[in-house]
Amino acid sequence: MKHIGHWIGGKGADGTSGRNGPVYNPATGAQAAEVAFASEGEVDQAVAAAKAALADWASSSLATRTAVLFRFRELLNAHRDEIASLITAEHGKVHSDALGELARGIEIVEVACGIPQLLKGELSTQVSSRIDVSAIRQPVGVVAGITPFNFPAMVPMWMFPLAIACGNTFVLKPSEKDPSPALRIAELLAEAGLPDGVFNVVNGDKTAVDRLLTHPDVKAVSFVGSTPIAQYVHATGTQHGKRVQALGGAKNHMLVLPDADLDAAADAAVSAAYGSAGERCMAVSAVVAVGATGDELVEKIRERAAKIRIGPGDDPASEMGPLITKQHRDKVASYVEGAAAQGAEVVLDGTGFTVDGHADGHWIGISLLDKVDTGSDAYRDEIFGPVLVVVRTESYDDGVRLINESPWGNGTAIFTRDGGAARRFQLEAEAGMVGVNVPIPVPVGYHSFGGWKDSLFGDHHIYGEEGVRFYTRAKVVTTRWPDPSDSGVDLGFPTSR
Ligand code: NAD
Repeated sequence: MKHIGHWIGGKGADGTSGRNGPVYNPATGAQAAEVAFASEGEVDQAVAAAKAALADWASSSLATRTAVLFRFRELLNAHRDEIASLITAEHGKVHSDALGELARGIEIVEVACGIPQLLKGELSTQVSSRIDVSAIRQPVGVVAGITPFNFPAMVPMWMFPLAIACGNTFVLKPSEKDPSPALRIAELLAEAGLPDGVFNVVNGDKTAVDRLLTHPDVKAVSFVGSTPIAQYVHATGTQHGKRVQALGGAKNHMLVLPDADLDAAADAAVSAAYGSAGERCMAVSAVVAVGATGDELVEKIRERAAKIRIGPGDDPASEMGPLITKQHRDKVASYVEGAAAQGAEVVLDGTGFTVDGHADGHWIGISLLDKVDTGSDAYRDEIFGPVLVVVRTESYDDGVRLINESPWGNGTAIFTRDGGAARRFQLEAEAGMVGVNVPIPVPVGYHSFGGWKDSLFGDHHIYGEEGVRFYTRAKVVTTRWPDPSDSGVDLGFPTSR
């Protein structure tokens, strides 16, 4: 059985805790590897390696840091297919989708290559007589990143490129379900010339996470995962004096007004609901159909969804792969199985679906639930699978009320030809990311990603300029070079006049 260990101080390290977890190939259902679960002591080793590397890296020139990041970008591009295959093997998503995830991760590396521009300070000259004030930003220290299974390459790349570009050192705790892409990335960073200890990977479970959250030498924590764990990570990390940004789960609504181009809206809903088998935090999981065009919209979604080709992620003919684990597949299926009893019309039922020759894969087909009751489980929970729920409303106002009553506020979208309605929606929707005729409005790398309400705990969104702020501490320097001729004692409070 292949053993997946850690990456500490610039080299691979076998796990020594004696605790391991299974890594599956979701398309076959077979266990492909075992991953080491770090002990507290192993986490301490990784943090110690990051701490030892900190002083030199934090004081390295911006040119040194960007040279590494430019080389890293080239290596990522050269190894795209290989990394995408690692993602597909352990996550299950189709190869083209894995390439897309990687491309969005590389986008953040490219932004990090521009760190000299982003870290330029501010200077005010002559704020008072012969006094200048400058504002600079310095690294926070050792940063930990804790990431979910659904983007094993991209989500770590939302974090560490900017963290290390800002002069911090980093310890990543990837998802134990698909740990291999992170370790390959660690090797490529080393090949790019990153000094040992600047980037470390510890694999594991709650034991590793808890040690990172309480370790006195970890100064900041970036977390992405489900809402209950995000809330826990934020509470525990801040209790231990750390800066924490914790991004949580989602139930993203797409509001379709009667004047929308219904074909375009149906294309968008199907792509955003079923892409990556719905295992995306920005998936559209609820369509809110306004008015009398609802029937036509649902029919257009049904036609398109029924044609999706499901199969192993490494088969170029597949458009959608399996789910991450059997347990998750069964949980997703339970929402579809219980839907009719809770009042929904089951338009497409994906339960019981399998792929020939891959009977033990974690398969589920496409499900579409119409006229879903907003009190039902399928509406209220984040299902995180290929299940799209449709809610009917009579008006724009009812639709927005529904969106704003959701406990989550990650992304939302409006489909309409009415510019006035779209403009109102931008201002009224309580979500951190809004799409206008765009179903998955994941911001580009030089803007920042983050939700509202139960989709984000902490103040800072991730990557972009907010990422730079999160990974740096502000310092303001007030300077005077006095002229001996006008120096004198003055006990008054200094003012600038
Ligand atoms: P998860 O919360 O189960 O796990 C995330 C990380 O936390 C993993 O590294 C895991 O090992 C660790 N973890 C799990 N349980 C823990 C515990 N009890 N104590 C300490 N650490 C623990 O999430 P997941 O299932 O890997 O990912 C799917 C979830 O992530 C979905 O809810 C999805 O919406 C969310 N997500 C959100 C975003 C976003 O940007 N807001 C992006 C991707 C995924």
